[in-house]
Amino acid sequence: MHIQHLRVLEPAPGIFAYCDGRVPGQRFMTAPNWVDEGALSLGIAAYALVRGEEALVYDPHVSTDHARAMRAHLAGLGVQRFTLVLSHHHLDHIAGTEAFADCEIIANARTLAHLERDGAAIESGTLGGPPAIAPLVLPNRIFSGKMTLILGGEPVELIETEIHSDDATVVWLPSRRILLAGDTLEDCVTYVVDPHRLSCHIEEIGRLRGLGAVSILPNHGDPGVIASGGYSPAFLDATEDYIRWLIALPNSPGRATEPLQEVIGRWLDDGALRWFDGYLAVHAQNMERVLSGADHET
Ligand SMILES: [Zn+2]
Repeated sequence: MHIQHLRVLEPAPGIFAYCDGRVPGQRFMTAPNWVDEGALSLGIAAYALVRGEEALVYDPHVSTDHARAMRAHLAGLGVQRFTLVLSHHHLDHIAGTEAFADCEIIANARTLAHLERDGAAIESGTLGGPPAIAPLVLPNRIFSGKMTLILGGEPVELIETEIHSDDATVVWLPSRRILLAGDTLEDCVTYVVDPHRLSCHIEEIGRLRGLGAVSILPNHGDPGVIASGGYSPAFLDATEDYIRWLIALPNSPGRATEPLQEVIGRWLDDGALRWFDGYLAVHAQNMERVLSGADHET
């Protein structure tokens, strides 16, 4: 069992966040592995929306143990019907899918295509290194663009977008103006996979801004902010501002020595972002990718 640091938060009525990571000294495995390096070191949350006997689970977390613990918590609340939605295809967002293999598992067509492409490597533990995810359970209900579900009378919109990965699905609750952002927004900085798509990411942030969210819940963020209801819409502005800084970097590479605390200082000062040391490494990698011009599918 690897779930001793899993915390269950309730940022809004019937919305549960299952947070793990950001714990000093915590290790999932002693050897280098994607769970520690890619997820727990930054902190990761998966979510569930609960209405009566139904739950929509947004990502099955970083292991089947985590996913089973989420499912057990929800069953304890009386949930009998589970729908799983995948935020995108990266390993830390699909690893626990097997625990929901008997349920409807929704993803967009790009996510399915990526998982089919990478399936053998994911199951052998050679895509992002160990641990392997086997068996890899694929989504069984596929959409493109947008899909609306009704959960206990509340509309839930799944919206396909491209920020961080080209197969993102965010969850939008129009009646409460709450956005579950997946990895499209991260506190402190976005995690760049393909530096050639940064302009597209800015356009798509504009599209998400147009939804008019009052509260934003990311998968990698500060548990304290998540517990208190989520991030303000300035989270979108902060992310756009940082991406614009990255886009400008190749024209003034000397700015690479500017401390991240200053690059995002304005947003730390007004509380849109919370400082977390783990993002120094993400920022260094982002700059390296932007300056070298290479993309890095994970
Ligand atoms: Zn992630």
